[in-house]
Amino acid sequence: MNECIFCKICAGEMESNTIFETNDFKVILDKFPAAKGHALIIPKEHFDDIYGMDSETAGKLFALATVVARSMKKVLNCDGLNVLQNNGEVAGQTVNHFHMHLIPRYKGDDFDFKWTTKKFSEEEFASLSEMIAKEI
Ligand code: 5GP
Ligand code: ZN
Repeated sequence: MNECIFCKICAGEMESNTIFETNDFKVILDKFPAAKGHALIIPKEHFDDIYGMDSETAGKLFALATVVARSMKKVLNCDGLNVLQNNGEVAGQTVNHFHMHLIPRYKGDDFDFKWTTKKFSEEEFASLSEMIAKEI
């Protein structure tokens, strides 16, 4: 039996505040929002994370994100918006069904996503980009 909560939400077996729905995606409000209007775009097909998603679904998903983001900006009158997508526990993924967060930002809000910059030599940068490029 499939215990995935986002599969259940997509199948209509679990309640959600649905914003929009297509054959491929469900856009819902996050139940534990970081901000007013925090939304999730969920593909109806189950992908654990970004690594297994096909490029056609990924393309459609980002196209839909642009449409939803414009609507959110207009309706919520937010000052900014973060697109966030977590993969793996260390990255903050808690639901193992791919989803994209659209988090509206308001001036003076408490949302924090800061990091300290790390240093690498020119050789290390070159080697890193080369290694990743070879794998593409
Ligand atoms: P993650 O941490 O995996 O990137 O994000 C999972 C998100 O799903 C969290 O922001 C969490 O609040 C949200 N979430 C967890 N359970 C439910 C639920 O049952 N319904 C809705 N709408 N959102 C949920
Ligand atoms: Zn699922």
